[in-house]
Amino acid sequence: IKDIKVKILTAEDLEVSKFYRYPDSHKGDYGKVGIVAGSKYYPGAAVLCSNAAIKSGCGLCYLITPQETLYFQSLRKPEIIVLPVESKEGVISFDGFVKFKEYFAKLDVLGFGCGLTKNEEVEKILIHILENFQIPIVIDADGLNVLASSQKAKNLLAIYKSQKVLTPHYMEAARLLGVDVKDVAKNPIDAAKKIAREFKSICVLKGSRTIITDGDEVFINVLGNPGMAKGGSGDVLTGIILSMIAQGYSAFEAAKISVYLHSLSADILLEKKTMQTILPSDVIEGLDSAIRRLI
Ligand code: AMP
Ligand code: MG
Repeated sequence: IKDIKVKILTAEDLEVSKFYRYPDSHKGDYGKVGIVAGSKYYPGAAVLCSNAAIKSGCGLCYLITPQETLYFQSLRKPEIIVLPVESKEGVISFDGFVKFKEYFAKLDVLGFGCGLTKNEEVEKILIHILENFQIPIVIDADGLNVLASSQKAKNLLAIYKSQKVLTPHYMEAARLLGVDVKDVAKNPIDAAKKIAREFKSICVLKGSRTIITDGDEVFINVLGNPGMAKGGSGDVLTGIILSMIAQGYSAFEAAKISVYLHSLSADILLEKKTMQTILPSDVIEGLDSAIRRLI
């Protein structure tokens, strides 16, 4: 590779010091994650994202989700604190969202987008967050789709004064850049760098070879397998990134560690399962083995 700033992601690139848990520590030392996710249409996305976050070591995980998704309670890990929000036709509503304002002040990181669906209420919430909050933010899925179609949100994100991680797959990246998905596929490194620079963020461009960049340095992940090509995979990754940021990692470090662990977990699962049978929820449970192998 000509450009020395492009590197294959290896375990040596990862800073795992924060995996050490001090004997006299308490949950406050490991951070509070907030996740705005889910809708009547995609209740599972919120479950996967929050389950992945709590399974990755954060101290507390709050899930801000439309009340219609509560019937999924049994699949959600009981450790997750659910804040059911009033919705409009099964999609989170702005008025419902702002009622939980006092919770947001104490969060260490906020996730936005998994399974939300896309409408004007969701756009209003994103704009409200970008105008009023000052905590690290991870935007995924419908959060990215809303962003792609709102110049106001794009402008606000570019000047948002905290750490940012955007986690598009190729199609979401194409929408963000206003180009064809073929252009992203032709030169994914350039696309990822462009997104990172435009929003002064970390970009995690997801694919069979996920690219992680701050707009300058580029890491390419070579772990993972096509068993991960299933709905819900990305929601799990977002949860892991949130958890790592809550535990004190910078956005860039968190993105690298999370992409690595997510795909390592899926690879370890293949020792006993198959690419057909591994599910994103198995990848969450597989984090036990993946974290053990890493630290
Ligand atoms: P999403 O499209 O948002 O559900 O994200 C999919 C996740 O699965 C990303 O983390 C991808 O990197 C991963 N993934 C999907 N397909 C593959 C593949 N063929 N090989 C490795 N990882 C994959
Ligand atoms: Mg996704």
